[in-house]
Amino acid sequence: MTNKQHLGCRHIFGPVPSRRLGRSLGVDLVPHKTCTLNCVYCECGRTDHLTINRSEYVPVERIKAELDAFLSQDPKLDFITFSGSGEPTLYSGIGEIVGFIKSAYPRHKVALLTNGTLFYNSRVREEVLDLDLVKVSLDAVSERIFKSINRPHHVLKLPDIIDGLISLRKKFDGQFWVEVFLVPGFNDSEGELKKIRNVLSIINPDRIQLNTIDRPGAESWVKPVNKKVLTDIAAFLYDAEIITEFDSDQYNRVNIDDFCEPLLATIKRRPCTAEDVSQFLGIHVNEVRRHLYALIEKGEIARREMPRGVFYMKRS
Ligand code: SF4
Repeated sequence: MTNKQHLGCRHIFGPVPSRRLGRSLGVDLVPHKTCTLNCVYCECGRTDHLTINRSEYVPVERIKAELDAFLSQDPKLDFITFSGSGEPTLYSGIGEIVGFIKSAYPRHKVALLTNGTLFYNSRVREEVLDLDLVKVSLDAVSERIFKSINRPHHVLKLPDIIDGLISLRKKFDGQFWVEVFLVPGFNDSEGELKKIRNVLSIINPDRIQLNTIDRPGAESWVKPVNKKVLTDIAAFLYDAEIITEFDSDQYNRVNIDDFCEPLLATIKRRPCTAEDVSQFLGIHVNEVRRHLYALIEKGEIARREMPRGVFYMKRS
């Protein structure tokens, strides 16, 4: 299967060079921006469908068929990752999909990138126990700050969410990571960071990651934390890892003739720099820029300058 063909699948994407997980095949289980939160920094834009109702948004058999079509060719992957532009645990068939991958393709490691808000529900916790890695978010421990940054569904209560994370951590045998996304002026105060640190000490994750905005988010006023502050906070949060750029030459090659369609698909999924696209598609960055300029001229995409560089995105 060519890269173009699997980009054409509706629910699996990549493999993409993830800065967290290496070469990762993404599985997107819920419709675009269907989420329990509406984070101010979300790189996929504002949440269209704010919900806590779990549903089989796509028939399980269809996801299995897409996975079969790709995995049966024995691709080289570091992870299969439930991620995308919404909250994967809202998909009620996630447990069945995990079981399917683990029985049909046991050599692959499976990861879940989740906001962790539904783990207060014991059933959701049970469904993810066979995963190799779960990475949850914890941006705030104070309800007021949680509401300001993550803008949750009104039913969600932060103490229940934190209890859910602690309960999952106790039962889960795989790697358990926590990511803290810093938003200056909200969760970077000494008081809030102390509270976050206390909760992290209870959860005791295998890895703590610190993130800050480096591409356009849902709200344009969200700014990055400066590098010195980020480094200090990382030291305070048990030597958290500052998430860095993916560095790999394991490029995914495509024919130049097939380039425009995957380029647009990539940019529509999330804002990217020319370097991101170059890494993702294995095309020289000068060639990427030439096509990006052409798409801007045609009015098909937009650009925005950010501290990490110029990002290209779909027009709103
Ligand atoms: S960042 Fe994640 S959790 Fe937050 S709104 Fe976007 S998809 Fe949902």
